[in-house]
Amino acid sequence: MMFVLDQHQKPLMPCTEKRARLLLERGRAVVHRQFPFTIRLKDRTADTSAFQDLRLKLDPGRKTTGVAMILDSTKGPKAIFFGEIGHKPGIQSRLDDRRTHRRGCWHRHTRYRAARFDNRQRRTGWLPPSVKARVDQTLRAVAKFRKLAPITDLSVEHVKFDTQKMQNPEISGIEYQQGTLLGYEIREYLLEKWDRRCAYCDAEDVEFQVEHVHPKDLGGSDRVSNLALACPACNISKNNQSLAEFLARDAGRRRRAAQHAKAYAGKDPHKPKDRACWETSRLERIQRQMKAPLKGAAAPTLGSPRRGMNATRWRLDDQLQATGLPVEGGSGARTKMQRIAHTFPKEHYYDALCVGASTPESFAAPPAYVQAWSAKGHGNRQMCGTHQYGFPIRHRSRRRQHFGFQTGDLVVARVPHGKYAGGWTERVSARASGSFDMTAGGQRVAQGISYRHCLILQPRWMAL
Ligand SMILES: [Zn+2]
Repeated sequence: MMFVLDQHQKPLMPCTEKRARLLLERGRAVVHRQFPFTIRLKDRTADTSAFQDLRLKLDPGRKTTGVAMILDSTKGPKAIFFGEIGHKPGIQSRLDDRRTHRRGCWHRHTRYRAARFDNRQRRTGWLPPSVKARVDQTLRAVAKFRKLAPITDLSVEHVKFDTQKMQNPEISGIEYQQGTLLGYEIREYLLEKWDRRCAYCDAEDVEFQVEHVHPKDLGGSDRVSNLALACPACNISKNNQSLAEFLARDAGRRRRAAQHAKAYAGKDPHKPKDRACWETSRLERIQRQMKAPLKGAAAPTLGSPRRGMNATRWRLDDQLQATGLPVEGGSGARTKMQRIAHTFPKEHYYDALCVGASTPESFAAPPAYVQAWSAKGHGNRQMCGTHQYGFPIRHRSRRRQHFGFQTGDLVVARVPHGKYAGGWTERVSARASGSFDMTAGGQRVAQGISYRHCLILQPRWMAL
């Protein structure tokens, strides 16, 4: 599907590729932008046009946010757009780097200055920079979509599991809940509660099984508070032993736990000591965690990489409400159930398509391609490059634009002769010398192309 604007740049209903091509051929429309491809009709206004319901759905992720658009046409619901927003990686480590550099500098130059590091305050509504970047990027994408298509509803995955549905934590039975929405909610809840690792040996990234901590043979119940996550090995070897017995006796479990502790220590060399006491306190930790209340039940973690996703989801939901469009929230458990029911593969855009209770039973043929975009940042502010010993060898001007081009602009170049002769449609790296490089997917594909051969197709600020 192609996006369509009216003659005053107001969004109209998207149209098919074929229709867009015919409109362009007949001169009724012009190309408004390249990515995502949008045309502008020359003879139509929004107030004389008919509209249908268009729902934008979002599945926020840590690295990637899935986007899907559903058109509620007279012929039934139709998925018309798939997209993926790649979030900027490494924000935290870059800020850590900067902090280290500045601290070193302060230390070298202002040794006698009084300490000021406590004179700081966080504004209300402060978010960690990595979370804020994620939220801002997604909101910006939504705002841009609203300029391209007449979006009437929004859906967003705002929780991993729905505590409302599990209001009574004593609801029972994974056995007969498998496959139902409640079963999925319980599973997501357990994943969160036990921090996506085996409760007994800290195994990660395995096919988890739901396990009765107090075995059923010894009178243990099916209640959620008696359930934990276990890796297959622990589940089998625990069998019908009580918790204390299993933790004390099973050599295999101890070996696995030690292995995982080692792997963990490799990730975080400062904390092997923490890890040792992590193991000795396991019994009481598991017992305490079993009794943890439904809300805020997340397990105590050791350097979990999944931090910040709840904050992202909540803030996003909050800010989307502020757009004034009706916002539907959905749980991750529901998304997963619906995706599996539709037999869609595990992709961010299919997840987005399955967010929320409004997801229809069936769709018309999904779009043929996925629009992917990612944050490119605002470039480098380093004014001087150094050689390996730190001596400055090259300098940059403060200007970002050279000969009317800026790094990141999409250009079309017709190179008459030389090694790179031919036509190029790529992103440009603008240089003060006027001899530019072409990049595709972060790789340089051509270099030394004169600005005289280039023409801007879409400036970088117009990218989604
Ligand atoms: Zn295990």
